[in-house]
Amino acid sequence: MSNENKTISQFELNLICEYFSNLERQGPGSPEATLKALSFIDNLTENSRIADIGCGTGGQTMVLAQNIPGHITGLDLFPDFITLFNRNAGRLSLQERVKGIVGSMEEALPFKKESLDLIWSEGAICNIGFEQGLRQWCEYLKQGGYIAVTEPSWFTGERPSEIDNFWMAAEPGIDTIPRKVSQMQRAGYVPVATFILPENCWTEHYFAPQAAVREKILKKYAGNQAVADFIAFSRQEEELYRKYKAFYGYVFYIGKKI
Ligand code: SAH
Repeated sequence: MSNENKTISQFELNLICEYFSNLERQGPGSPEATLKALSFIDNLTENSRIADIGCGTGGQTMVLAQNIPGHITGLDLFPDFITLFNRNAGRLSLQERVKGIVGSMEEALPFKKESLDLIWSEGAICNIGFEQGLRQWCEYLKQGGYIAVTEPSWFTGERPSEIDNFWMAAEPGIDTIPRKVSQMQRAGYVPVATFILPENCWTEHYFAPQAAVREKILKKYAGNQAVADFIAFSRQEEELYRKYKAFYGYVFYIGKKI
C-alpha cells in the first residue's frame, strides 16, 4: 500500500480502506518471509509483550501468533481494518493473546516505556519515516528487545528515472540497504539481519489477489473518476514492479535494542 505524496480526500481514504479490506495483506510479504524474520528472534516467552504497528487486517500478525508465545497488540489507523483483525483473531481462537486496537503511529504509542519484547511492522514504518520510527519505537522496547520491520529499499546505487521518479513521489524515504542498516544502527539497535523479500511476496501474495478486487470495485463505482484513477495507480504499481524489480523491493530489517 503506497502513500501518495498529496492530500487525500475522505472519499479516497474510504476507497483505500474498502479496497484493502478485501485483501488478506495490505502490503508485500508472505507467511514464509514473516517466519524467516522470526527465526532471528530468540527471547520470547508466554509473558512476552509484542506490538505489530500498522498491522492492517492482521495477515502477518496471525502467522506470528501461531508461531510464538506471548501477547500481541496490533495497532492500525483504520477502524475497519481493526474490526477485521479482531474477527480474524477470533476465527483462529487467538483472541486471548491477540488484540487489535485503533491508533496512530504519529502519536505516542499506547504502551509503557521499556515494556515490549518485540516490535513488528510490515510495510508501515514508512508512514512516519524509517529512522524516525525506529528511534521513537526504541523507547517502548526493553533492553535486548527486538524490532523487525519491512521497508521499500533500492538494490542499486542508481536506477532508471521512470522508477526513481515513481518511488520518490510515492515514498521519498526509500534508500539503499546499507544506508537503511546504518540508520538502524544510529537509532539505537544492533542490526541483526537483513534480507530481501522474495518476488512471490509481491506477485503471489500482493498483486495476484488484487485482480479480482479491482474488477469488483470498478463495477461498484462505475463512472467514478477517483476510483478509476486509484485502480490505474495500483495497476501502474504492478507494471512497474514487473519492469524494474531488479532495482528495488521490500527488505526485512531486524535489530536488537542495545
Ligand atoms: N502490515 C500489513 C499492512 C501494511 S499496509 C501488511 O503487511 O499486510 C500499511 C498499514 O499501515 C495500513 O494498514 C495502514 O492503515 C497503516 N497506517 C498508515 N498510517 C498509519 C498511522 N499513522 N498509524 C497507524 N497505522 C497506519
